[in-house]
Amino acid sequence: MVDAQHYAAVVKASHDASASVQGGVNASYIPYLASVPANLTGLTLVLSDGQVFSEGDSDYRFAIESISKVATLALALEQHGPAEVRKKIGADPTGMPFNSVTALELHDDRPQSPLVNAGAMATVSLIQADNAEDRWARILGMQSRLVGHPVELSDEVNHSEQSTNFHNRAIAWLLYSAGTLYSDPMETCDVYTRQCSTLISCKDLAVFGATLASGGINPLNSERVLQSTNVPHILAEMSMEGLYDTSGDWAYTVGLPGKSGVGGGVMAVMPGRGAIAGFSPPLDPIGNSVRGQQMVAAVARALGWNLYRVSED
Ligand code: GLN
Repeated sequence: MVDAQHYAAVVKASHDASASVQGGVNASYIPYLASVPANLTGLTLVLSDGQVFSEGDSDYRFAIESISKVATLALALEQHGPAEVRKKIGADPTGMPFNSVTALELHDDRPQSPLVNAGAMATVSLIQADNAEDRWARILGMQSRLVGHPVELSDEVNHSEQSTNFHNRAIAWLLYSAGTLYSDPMETCDVYTRQCSTLISCKDLAVFGATLASGGINPLNSERVLQSTNVPHILAEMSMEGLYDTSGDWAYTVGLPGKSGVGGGVMAVMPGRGAIAGFSPPLDPIGNSVRGQQMVAAVARALGWNLYRVSED
């Protein structure tokens, strides 16, 4: 039986070992992200029984970015079921950058994964709603339920993204021309950009992950957010593409479904046990937080959390 003191010590040691590590650079293609202090470093562990262990800047609210793709995927699964999501979007890695147009060209304009930009916009376009505002409200509602409190849009992040998201607009039109986008392209891109522009903390992110680890029940407020049968599909998608082109490296070295965002957040989920979230803005060339990955991997290693490991105790 591992006690609370041990978990707290693991989180502190993992945070402290990485807090002063240099390397990586903030994302700059979204101007707001370049302005976030690069030294911020937060780490949180949330267990399925609701215990929370945090260190460093774990309450600092940062842009959710690509991690929002997981929430919208969850909503699409709740609305349409796994077969439809697999047919319309896919569940395979692209092996290419998250905003790759080449990946679309190579796969008959099928996005392959809901966790790259093309697939994420296709997922947004699938959300059943009365109009774009209703679609946005439903997506924001899902983000809020996953973290357990109302999540807010940052006007500053949204403005920064909306005024520079030309590449994503092009992807939306490409999908639309191929028949693989299911609502108006510019409305879809707008809602997608908004979903990336909400603010969450490292603690929120760990609760989000722990909700997945608990089969769709938020461990802090006990609300059932997702049908348990949808959760394995979400975790499978995260395993395949959660850290983009280095999802395979992550599986090899950490062995947990994970998801990153260019805002500096990274989370990993151990089904039945809990989730680990790290935050630090400087990114590696793939777009994954350098310190975030290190800290999350260190906690997973110390706790023996690895899906592929056979426990000998
Ligand atoms: N909003 C960002 C984009 O569309 C999200 C990308 C990411 O976090 N990898 O490019």
